[in-house]
Formats: sequence, C-alpha cells, structure tokens
Amino acid sequence: MRERLFSLISKYNLKANSDLGQNFLVVPDIIERNVERAELNENDTVLEVGPGLGVLTDALSQHAGKVYAIEKDSRLVEILRAEYDWPNVEIIEGDALKVEFPAFNKIVSNLPYQISSPITFRFLRYDFERAVLIYQLEFARRMVAEPGDRNYSRLSLMVRAKAHAELVERIGRGAFWPKPKVDSAVIVLEPKPRDERIELNEDLVRALFQHRRSTVLAALKKSHHMLGMSKEDFKRVRGLLGAVPHAGKRVFQLVPEDVLDIEGFLKTNGLL
Ligand code: SAM
Repeated sequence: MRERLFSLISKYNLKANSDLGQNFLVVPDIIERNVERAELNENDTVLEVGPGLGVLTDALSQHAGKVYAIEKDSRLVEILRAEYDWPNVEIIEGDALKVEFPAFNKIVSNLPYQISSPITFRFLRYDFERAVLIYQLEFARRMVAEPGDRNYSRLSLMVRAKAHAELVERIGRGAFWPKPKVDSAVIVLEPKPRDERIELNEDLVRALFQHRRSTVLAALKKSHHMLGMSKEDFKRVRGLLGAVPHAGKRVFQLVPEDVLDIEGFLKTNGLL
C-alpha cells in the first residue's frame, strides 16, 4: 500500500496541497483498524470525505457494499478514476461542505483538518450508525472533553448534545506523508437516537462560550450584544437575568440540558 502510494506520487509528480489538508496515510495498520472499527459488511454504504490517493477507499471498497468518496481536488479525482477500477465506489468531485450527500449509513474518513468543525456539524445533521474519523489530536480531545474539563468547549457541548464520541487511538505525525506539524487521533462517533438528540440555539451557545470560565450570569451580561440585545434592552432586563437557571454555574461546566433550561428562560422572558 505504501509502495502504491509513493509510486502514484512519483508517477504524477504530486505536491501535496496543504491548503486542502493533504496529509496522506502511509501506515496500513491504521487503515485496517479503522475499517474494523467501522464494523463493515456488504449491506453498508459508506461515505468518505477526502479519498486523496485512495488508500483508505480501497480498503473500504473491499468491506462495504458501496462507497461514496467526495474529493475536492480535481487532479486527485482524475488520478483515482484513472488508477482504480472499483466496482462499488463512486467518486464525487466537489466540496464535502456543499455537495448533496447520497444516502449512507456509515462514515469513515481521514478528514482534511481545515474543515473539521463544519463537516462534523454537517455529519451530525444526518442519521447514520457510526463514524470512524481521523482529526487533529487537539480537536479530537475537545470533541470528547467532559463538562468541567480543561478542554471542554463549545464543540464538546454541541457534540455531546447529539452523539457519543470516543477517542480510541492517538496517531503520531509520522503516519502521514507529508508529516503534519501536529499529532492526530481516531474518533468513533455514534449519533444518539433522534429523540435523545438536543437541538441547541447556536447563538446562545456561542455567546456563553465566549466567556467559558465565567458564571452563566456573568457570561450572559458580557455577551448580551451577541444575543441581539441593545444596551438599552439589556439595562431594562438586567434585573430579570439574575433568575436565569444555572446562573452561578461556570460555562465550562454546562451540559446540553442546562443550556436548554437557559434558552427556555430567555425565550419565556422575551430575551431571545
Ligand atoms: N484519505 C486520504 C488518506 O487517508 O491518505 C487523504 C486524506 S487527506 C488528510 C484529506 C483529503 O481531503 C485530501 O485528499 C484533500 O484534497 C481532500 N479535501 C480537502 N478539502 C476537502 C473538501 N472541502 N471536500 C472534499 N475533499 C476535501
């Protein structure tokens, strides 16, 4: 696999495009483990974002019924189409943040790190069984951080509202060509059942996490402009805010249900 990759790189005189997060996996074991983690069989339809030179795609095609691989770099799309003859893989040329997703039930990808956050939120708008994803280590740590942790952030809360995320393996930078500046990690993501998923008001979450170490009350006061309140509005309702649920809790300790309570209070009082 490593030989195949480097022979393609030299045949097409490829320079990795760092703007597209092109760091290709060169360690077959990692690919095998991720394919195993996805628990694939012939009934599965897998979505892959960023097939690159097809090393992971090749393994996926051997274990799943169907693979859709979305690649933005037209040069790589040309190479994939010329070099492989997969009967069950469809390469979709385009930006994974914009193209319409085909129906799928699993996702396996070594993601371009530039789009980690928006692509994760896009995934979470779909129903699927399981995703096995490689992210930058720091991002992965934030995804799985628990309320009260040093890394607990807006991302942690938003992921927690919709899914179970587990960091299952740390990957050193030597596993990629070219070597990235930071380490990576594998995350297994499983959406919660629909009726357990919590839709949070993103403006409110952003406003709160602007001051993650403050109390809820202090954060709301400091970020009132982000909730569309003018100075005058704010002065008028200042007193009311004291009764907001979880007022004394620190923002980085909030669970999604707490944010729902806060949202309910603000809405009932015409503040949101
Ligand atoms: N899967 C390959 C591997 O593991 O070796 C390549 C992974 S590389 C980290 C990320 C891939 O995503 C690159 O092929 C890059 O061109 C592609 N890419 C970057 N931005 C993209 C986007 N917005 N939509 C689809 N593909 C994208």
